[in-house]
Amino acid sequence: MASNSSSISTSAKRLDGKVAVITGGASGIGAATAKLFVKNGAKVVILDVQDDLGRSLCNEIGSEQISYVHCDVTNETQVENAIDFAVSKHGKIDIMYNNAGIIGSMAPGITTTDYENLKKVFDINVFGAFLGAKHAARVMIPAKKGVILFTASVAGVVAGMSPHTYAASKHAVIGLSNNLCVELGQYGIRVNCISPHVVDTPLLTKFVGEIDKNKVDEAIMKSSNLKIEKLEANDVAIAAVYLASDEAKYISGLNLMIDGGYSKTNPLFPMYISEIRS
Ligand code: NAD
Repeated sequence: MASNSSSISTSAKRLDGKVAVITGGASGIGAATAKLFVKNGAKVVILDVQDDLGRSLCNEIGSEQISYVHCDVTNETQVENAIDFAVSKHGKIDIMYNNAGIIGSMAPGITTTDYENLKKVFDINVFGAFLGAKHAARVMIPAKKGVILFTASVAGVVAGMSPHTYAASKHAVIGLSNNLCVELGQYGIRVNCISPHVVDTPLLTKFVGEIDKNKVDEAIMKSSNLKIEKLEANDVAIAAVYLASDEAKYISGLNLMIDGGYSKTNPLFPMYISEIRS
C-alpha cells in the first residue's frame, strides 16, 4: 500500500512536541483547552489573573508539562514577560491562544453604557488579544511557523445577543484575526478564530445573573438550533486542538463557528406564526 505523504498524525497525541500559551487559561474554555492540549502532548503555559485557580489547575493536571504565569493581558510588559518566560522554559512557542475575555457590565442599551465599561471590555477582549498576538508573532516570525488562535463569539457574528460593548469587541477580534492572517501568512503562521455559542462557564453566570441553572439550561436548549446536548467547554477545546495541530496545516483566516448552526437561523417569524396557529 502506498504510504501517505501528508503530515496528518495518526498518533492520539496530536500536539506532541508543541509549546502552547493560553490566556484566560485558569477557567472555563481556557482551562478545558489547557487540559486537552496537555493530553495531546503539548507543553502549556497558562496566563491569567486568577492565581489560585491557575495554580490549582496545574496541580490538578499534575504534570511538568503545564505551568502558570500571572499575566494581566492588558499590561504589555506582563504579556511580553510571559511570552519570554514560555520561550526560556520551552525554547519556542508554536501555539498562542488568545482566549481571555470578559462580558463586562450588562447595560441594556447604548445610552446607559458607560465609557469605563466600554474601555475595560476592549482592554481585555481586544487590546489583550492584540498584545498576545503581537508578542507571539515576535517569536514566531523568525521561527517561520506558528499558530495564533482567538476566542471570539457567536456574538461577533450575530447581532443583538449581548451588550453592545461585548458584541463590538468580538467583531473586533474577528477583524484582527483576519487582518493578521494576511500579514503573517508569508511567515508560515496560521491565524484562526473560534466562535462558540453559549458555554456554561463563570462568564455565562455573569451574563445571565443568578438564575436557576436548570432554567438557564432550558433557555439554551430552547434557543439552540441543533437539538442535542448543550455545548461544553471541552467541545471548544477539541476545535482548538484541531486548529492548533498540523492536521489544519492549510487552514488560516477561518472563524470557526461552534454554534450548531445558530448563526444561520432566525426562527422568530415561523415561531410567532406557529404560536398564532396554536
Ligand atoms: P471564564 O470567565 O471562565 O474565563 C475567562 C478567563 O479570562 C478567566 O480565567 C479570567 O480570569 C481571564 N481573564 C479575565 N481578564 C483577564 C486579564 N485582564 N488578563 C488575563 N486573564 C484574564 O469564561 P469563558 O467562557 O471560558 O471565556 C473564555 C473566552 O470565551 C472569552 O473570550 C469569552 O468571551 C469567550 N466566549 C465565551 C462564551 C460562553 O458562553 N462562555 C461564548 C462565546 C465566547
